[in-house]
Amino acid sequence: MTEVERLNYDVVVIGAGGAGLRAVIEARERGFSVAVVCKSLFGKAHTVMAEGGCAASMGNANSNDNWQVHFRDTMRGGKFLNNWRMAELHAREAPDRVWELETYGALFDRTADGRISQRNFGGHTYPRLAHVGDRTGLELIRTMQQKIVSLQQEDFKETGDYEARIKVFAECTITELLTEDGRISGAFGYWRESGRFILFESPAVVLATGGIGKSFKVTSNSWEYTGDGHALALRAGAKLINMEFVQFHPTGMVWPPSVKGILVTEGVRGDGGVLKNTEDKRFMFEYVPEVFKGQYADSEEEADRWYADADNNRRTPDLLPRDEVARAINSEVKAGRGSPHGGVFLDIASRLPAEEIRKRLPSMYHQFKELADVDITKEPMEVGPTCHYVMGGIEVDPDTASSSVPGLFAAGECSGGMHGSNRLGGNSLSDLLVFGRRAGLGAASYVAELKERPKVSQSDVDAAAAMALAPFDPPGDGVEENPYSLHTELQQSMNDLVGIIRKAEEIERALEKLGELRERIKRVTVEGHRQFNPGWHLAVDLRNMLMVSECVARAALTRTESRGGHTRDDHPGMDPQWRNKLLVCSATPGDNPVVPDIGIEVKAQLPLRQDLLELFELSELGKYYTDEELTSHPGSQV
Ligand code: FAD
Repeated sequence: MTEVERLNYDVVVIGAGGAGLRAVIEARERGFSVAVVCKSLFGKAHTVMAEGGCAASMGNANSNDNWQVHFRDTMRGGKFLNNWRMAELHAREAPDRVWELETYGALFDRTADGRISQRNFGGHTYPRLAHVGDRTGLELIRTMQQKIVSLQQEDFKETGDYEARIKVFAECTITELLTEDGRISGAFGYWRESGRFILFESPAVVLATGGIGKSFKVTSNSWEYTGDGHALALRAGAKLINMEFVQFHPTGMVWPPSVKGILVTEGVRGDGGVLKNTEDKRFMFEYVPEVFKGQYADSEEEADRWYADADNNRRTPDLLPRDEVARAINSEVKAGRGSPHGGVFLDIASRLPAEEIRKRLPSMYHQFKELADVDITKEPMEVGPTCHYVMGGIEVDPDTASSSVPGLFAAGECSGGMHGSNRLGGNSLSDLLVFGRRAGLGAASYVAELKERPKVSQSDVDAAAAMALAPFDPPGDGVEENPYSLHTELQQSMNDLVGIIRKAEEIERALEKLGELRERIKRVTVEGHRQFNPGWHLAVDLRNMLMVSECVARAALTRTESRGGHTRDDHPGMDPQWRNKLLVCSATPGDNPVVPDIGIEVKAQLPLRQDLLELFELSELGKYYTDEELTSHPGSQV
């Protein structure tokens, strides 16, 4: 029998980023005991890297802003493939969630008259991002951790134990979810330092594990983004949607090679920075797509006036949604007008005084100075697309964040639907707060209504332990595979063949490669023992990366159109017949014990509720919808 530390909680939250922490707070506020598990140090989640800000239509910088405008922007950004109920809840609730953070102790930057300041970002009609310089995510995490400590102090007063209701398990990786009769019964994992196993017996699990970027070679994502939550959910029987939509942020560093992919915040453009090619031309004016024609400035003069007078001028095309800007940069580089290291130039130096740049963008200033020896107050940056965010994720009920598996909830980047085919900048931090809260609430309500709790079976624990230990005990047929080599090959294939621009023949090659890696992973071998062993950790993560990569590739091959974060060279246009179709991935055991088979099916999106449909002009919807879908719009009856 496997030696395992066993613990009991009402709710287990996997992930201590923004979504996870907000879920913890909510479940604890409802009186339940919560374990929060994270594979990195507590406080080091990906959310701390968020720079630009948190989108919420507070109307502080422009009083015309409101939830309906935010909703419209989000749907436009996602090319109308979003789960509209999620987009609605998000737009309605984001301002309250930002205010609430201040009650926890956050301090956002202020306007001259003392209100929360809001900055411009791509695709947002009005300045909407509440921010703390370019370190907003850090403030979010700092504040929620502070709130958790204050709740622990309350628990101490009541019970004499700080950890009576919230306990943090840091540097602890969950490798498997356990179920009984299809319902969640627990989560199994290991301590990274000692390699010892740990079992959480719990009827409710909230997945808040973030994204999948480490399956791609060039990425802004950190080592934790190995798609664990996506894969855990699939293996437990839940479904993933929208996996073909991967966001390539237009501005990652391109030089030096050791830092390629590190993010350059959109805040640089929001604060006046412009993209230029080697001919010193502001090329974005050439790339305003048909669906956005009329909404963006068509001259440099108007674009520049817009920064000071947004009511009487149209916004700069430098701030088009990310998918459009990334494709434009890609085209400029392909046309030979790229910068020396294969990107384009991003110039803030000639646009703002040096002092102002250092004040508004302190992290960017230091990042370029320290990593690339570039002074952004004097010279332009070199930037290019980098894999940044996955729109696809676990399919959830918008109101409760529950997946199709009873007891399993998901929030944040590992969930799917909210952002459709493309996320607007700033909409992730608000998503984490809105749906992190809803997931905590959903899990608490589920537990409250349970008549009896599912039990963990010993055979499931033994199987999870055997799977985790397999890399120490390869088949012994003389062939041994190295996890680092397999990871490098996976990243290269995904980058080259399922990257920013895709075509059928290349995706098919990627799928062949993934098939080969699926076989080779059975022979992944690691040396040494279980105490802090990075090779073993990677070997365990690899099966997750392979599963999610296969979902991305299969969905990308199936969707024969280009939309948002999915660009098909062989199907360049958006096809209205595809707009309301979701691609749903599920896993079946198959004949490979390590990596299950991935199936894909097409599912119709629910039609947009009438009052939300009427928030748009018929002429705009006509660019995305089929005529039949629009017969209920009042404009079609006149
Ligand atoms: P995370 O914050 O990544 O947390 C994931 C957690 O899950 C971590 O604690 C991790 O350790 C844990 N975990 C993962 N797998 C396991 C496992 N198997 N077992 C246990 N724990 C596990 N968005 C905005 O809205 N505005 C911005 O300005 C912005 N800037 C960004 C800048 C950068 C550089 C990057 C990379 C992203 C940015 N984003 C921004 C996106 C945003 O930061 C992320 O989408 C968001 O933080 C994800 O939060 P999360 O809570 O879902 O996951």
